[in-house]
Amino acid sequence: MNNAARTNAELYEACGFFIDGQWDFPGAARRLPVIDPATEDAIGEIPLARPEDLDAAVRSASSAFDTWRHSHAWERAAILKATARSLRDRAPHHARLFSMEQGKPTVEAERELGMAADHFEWAAEEATRLVGQIVPARPAGTVTVIEHQPVGVVAAFTPWNFPALQIAAKVAYALAAGCTVVLKASEEAPGIAMLILQALKDSGLPAGAVNLVFGEPAEVSERWLASPLVSALSFTGSTRVGRLLAPMAAASLKRMTLELGGHAPVIIQRDFSPKEAAALAGAVKFRNAGQACVSPSRFFVHESIADDFAGEMVAFAKGLKLGAGTDASTTMGPLVNRSRVDAAAALVKDALDRGATLQCGGSQPADRNKGFFFEPTVLSNVPLDSRIMIEEPFAPIAPIVSFGDDDDVIGMANGVEYGLGGYVLCNDEALAARTARGLDVGMVGINNLALAGADTPFGGVKSSGLGREGGPGALEEFLQTKMVKRTVKA
Ligand code: NAD
Repeated sequence: MNNAARTNAELYEACGFFIDGQWDFPGAARRLPVIDPATEDAIGEIPLARPEDLDAAVRSASSAFDTWRHSHAWERAAILKATARSLRDRAPHHARLFSMEQGKPTVEAERELGMAADHFEWAAEEATRLVGQIVPARPAGTVTVIEHQPVGVVAAFTPWNFPALQIAAKVAYALAAGCTVVLKASEEAPGIAMLILQALKDSGLPAGAVNLVFGEPAEVSERWLASPLVSALSFTGSTRVGRLLAPMAAASLKRMTLELGGHAPVIIQRDFSPKEAAALAGAVKFRNAGQACVSPSRFFVHESIADDFAGEMVAFAKGLKLGAGTDASTTMGPLVNRSRVDAAAALVKDALDRGATLQCGGSQPADRNKGFFFEPTVLSNVPLDSRIMIEEPFAPIAPIVSFGDDDDVIGMANGVEYGLGGYVLCNDEALAARTARGLDVGMVGINNLALAGADTPFGGVKSSGLGREGGPGALEEFLQTKMVKRTVKA
């Protein structure tokens, strides 16, 4: 494939699927147009996998596993580090193609590529520190060795919102552990998946260790999760889809990691400056147009500062410049597709019908008749039974609720099925610690809204999923324990 592709169409045409170390765009496959969310124009086409393509990918990963599992950890680490270097070196080129298909500003795309590279580096280092244990066994003269072995072929499914980061957070750790991968990446942002696979290939990854397809999501998951050659599922996406896939994986007792939805509360205490809170929270709320599972999405603000905070958030939202991700002046891009725009509009309407106050935004911008844009939106006095306080919004909408009691607010924050991220903005350290302890989430930021990173275990509790990605011990998701007990002859 042409690693210097100038347009998305050129890239997709030169790549297609990656199976057994080869790029292939099967002429007989159905095709799907890829849409630029800023213009609604088709910017190329990708092939959709047929059953024979899905089976070929699994066979390739299964046969590669026989050798990759026995490769030396330093060899695996060298390939992962070279991949990280390639992603960093080529970030400006990759970010432009990536912005065209996904919509985020190129500066955010470059930042995401840097975070993806971090995962490849962290995984490389974890691979070389994967140590076992020797237990002083009984009776004397017996040695018990505990070692870690790769689980096998991993079926990975990654979404469109952070398409580079989420591939890295699965593929890097699976490979580091000695597993091989069949990956169905997002059909909405396929090019960045192709570029990452090419970086792995250029870095010396053996044929078959990672295979990439696109397809009808349900067709792919049904076929791969029914295969006895697949040992594990790693999925990032909605709780709805996670609930469909988990029983399919469980039926054949596959290991599973599920990174699902979130609905992160932000508790802003009376001693925190409303202006500073809006600067911190606004930057994260509207990043990627609110399409992030850890996006702050329910703002519980102490009643003494709630009006001031709402005013500061409105000022922040109005300061954003909407536009195509590839336009250097853009600070917030479009949503990924029409259905996300419709879902955002429906959530705003529901909240207003129930008595919320619209502070700004709330609809598609009047000056744009093309593109999946939605105005950065601030709602206040939002009733707790509004859909937006219950369902994950995945949109640039900040709903504000005021509170008076420090314990009641923890109950309100915990009153949803999700438990991914949560945030506390509070200068009183004891109160901040008590609030953080009370939140039923997998990750809490205190005066800090940057939860994701290669060095942090990312994941949730309750309906937000199972397992963790990144951080110390990130390889565990892809390892199983083997015990060898030996009698030593005197
Ligand atoms: P969706 O539930 O239709 O799809 C979510 C993801 O799952 C997509 O990447 C899709 O390709 C994949 N998918 C869908 N059906 C599948 C199947 N049967 N087998 C395998 N993969 C399948 O939702 P959407 O409209 O694309 O996105 C909106 C919702 O998705 C949001 O409300 C949010 O909850 C969730 N989402 C979460 C994350 C995350 O990072 N946790 C990422 C993207 C989307």
